[in-house]
Amino acid sequence: MNRAKEILKKYYGYDSFRPLQEKAIESLIKGDSSVVLMPTGGGKSVIFQVAAIVREGLGVVISPLIALMKDQVEGLKSNGIAAEFINSSQTASDQNRVIQDILSGKVKLLYISPEKLLTRDIYYLLKDIKVALFAIDEAHCISAWGHDFRPEYTKLSGLIDSFKEVPVVALTATADRITRDDIVKQLNLKNPEMFIDSFDRPNLSLNVMPAKNRLNAILDFINLRPGKSGIIYCLSRKQTEKLAESLNNNGIVASFYHAGLSASERSKVQTNFITDRVPIICATIAFGMGIDKSNVRWVIHYNLPKNIENYYQEIGRAGRDGMPADTLLFYNFQDVILLRSFISEGAQQEIMNNKLDRMQQYADSLVCRRRILLNYFNEPYDKNCGNCDVCKNPPKQFDGTVIAQKALSAITRLREQEATGMVIDVLRGSHRSDVLNKGYNSIKTFGVGKDISAFDWKHYIMQMVNTGLVDIAYDRDNALQLTELSTDVLYSRKKVMMVHPAEFGDIIADRKENAKPKSKSKQLTEELFEELRILRRELAVAKGIAPYMLFSDATLTDMAAKRPVTPLEMKDIEGVSEAKYHTYGSYFLDGICKFVNQKLKDGKNIKGGTYIETWNLYQLGLSPEEISKKRKLNLITIYSHIAHLYEKGYNIDVYRYVSNDEIEKIREAVNVCGDNKLKDIYIHLNEEVSYEKIRLSLSFLKKSNNGNNQN
Ligand code: ADP
Ligand code: ZN
Repeated sequence: MNRAKEILKKYYGYDSFRPLQEKAIESLIKGDSSVVLMPTGGGKSVIFQVAAIVREGLGVVISPLIALMKDQVEGLKSNGIAAEFINSSQTASDQNRVIQDILSGKVKLLYISPEKLLTRDIYYLLKDIKVALFAIDEAHCISAWGHDFRPEYTKLSGLIDSFKEVPVVALTATADRITRDDIVKQLNLKNPEMFIDSFDRPNLSLNVMPAKNRLNAILDFINLRPGKSGIIYCLSRKQTEKLAESLNNNGIVASFYHAGLSASERSKVQTNFITDRVPIICATIAFGMGIDKSNVRWVIHYNLPKNIENYYQEIGRAGRDGMPADTLLFYNFQDVILLRSFISEGAQQEIMNNKLDRMQQYADSLVCRRRILLNYFNEPYDKNCGNCDVCKNPPKQFDGTVIAQKALSAITRLREQEATGMVIDVLRGSHRSDVLNKGYNSIKTFGVGKDISAFDWKHYIMQMVNTGLVDIAYDRDNALQLTELSTDVLYSRKKVMMVHPAEFGDIIADRKENAKPKSKSKQLTEELFEELRILRRELAVAKGIAPYMLFSDATLTDMAAKRPVTPLEMKDIEGVSEAKYHTYGSYFLDGICKFVNQKLKDGKNIKGGTYIETWNLYQLGLSPEEISKKRKLNLITIYSHIAHLYEKGYNIDVYRYVSNDEIEKIREAVNVCGDNKLKDIYIHLNEEVSYEKIRLSLSFLKKSNNGNNQN
């Protein structure tokens, strides 16, 4: 495991494994097979990659996503890991080159499609060499229960069987239990260890809003998150086009994506999105499969999804890098009706209707939404998450008995023949021709609900449907009808609690009103993040790769917060591997130095700025005495700056200020009296060596003891 940790630092730039990663890697290194269930962004790839590097031989990664293989392999190579892929998108000569490299032991990780893996050539190739492990990515593809069944996957167990000594790890982000069990069965793994992570994605905020003025709400939402990447899922192709157009008309760059576009158009939209050229995509659910982009910062559902599985998968495309991301669902009565009508035309109607019920319950929830989601996936969760709209802004209930009675009475008088729209028109006393033609203006409840807006009425009726007070006859043009519970309410035997629509958590208003003024240091961090993001984009464009592959948002955030200005500090940043440091480190160091210096010039107080000011003067050739005069600081302070800079890896020549002899004397003194008190050392050396020299020598000794006495 020590070697695994070294690898993690060297090739990925991370300091520690996540708890389950560590266990799974340990088990693979030992040679055991396992199944890993982790949500998207949980860090599955690191598991088989690191284990394969530690073990002897070639790590074989089976993946159905040919479109992603190239990116994944490029990503590994950019971190200095010898990876290759074999799939049908390659020319024969490319494939032969890879095979030659494998035979000569140059390749550590091979990504391969199941079709290719199951060919004789590859079988004999693998028999010829040593295989470190098999990793079956997207392992749910093996199950006919899964949403993404690939028949080739079912043949993998035969192959695995013929490599008895090689450990197998099957990985998936699929949360449902039937699929999980099926993976183990189909792969025929003998007592695999099961590593099951929580499927919670705590970095995703969950928000639901009534679908009122959606465009304005979306514009507000986006304007609060300028430049951030996001996806808006719509139910229809037409809607994606319309919405993208409206956004563009409002000065927001957005494209649309749906299955009706040609393959080349689709791939263009996808590339523009991945490379941050177009930050926002309005899409049908066709969009997202096989997109690995880690810095999607938000997902909006313009319409209600048809089940929680889809919903969770779609919001899961946000925040894969673990950084905060927002999700917003618009909840709308018409969508429910439309979805029900789709269901009534398809197969498995009962199951589909039940699933839609659960989706609706989620949208209507008065308790923490994460609780509903996780319990849906059989993961017990009984806290309040604190990161959903219900937790942040608990809806207040009120006695809605009279409202319910008015609605029920209108439904009765309309002889349970009319759908929501007409019921509301009657309640509100509309003089629409349809209402008048049918003579509804003469019934007793006409106009009794004038004081409530049509929008609010819709909401109340929806709540009544959800609590079983009203039923929708989907087979009779969605007419509203009474239920067994209705009569109790009509005859005042039962009180009805309702929630006011305006009190549904509204993350847009919430943010606007509660926005606290940001602290100075937070402002600086955000400003620097933006500059680094631009730099990342420029470098990525020049390299022809996606910005998030160069450095993740998490890495940029760490950089913006810590503001490294020396190589040592830069290498300490989360996600800066050695290879990436060599390729990009100096660009980012320069960018940060420029930023910090500009701030200092502007007279801003910036953390660590005082050291940098000393460093700037040092570089101009000023002596410590001159710096001390210029900066009006004590000489010993300047020496302690120089010592600090030296420790942080700045290129400082200590011998300019203290001789080798003096350093040796101080070393001996430290052995006697420790390095805590300058004064003790000073006295021990008969007051012959100045405090300044002692201060600097201590840094020198500390650094050479740490064994990283290099710049
Ligand atoms: P998955 O394949 O499970 O969706 P990834 O392997 O793509 O997840 O990892 C998600 C993100 O988390 C990536 O940006 C990855 O670099 C990062 N990551 C993985 N392991 C660690 C770790 N131990 N420490 C910090 N970041 C990590
Ligand atoms: Zn919550």
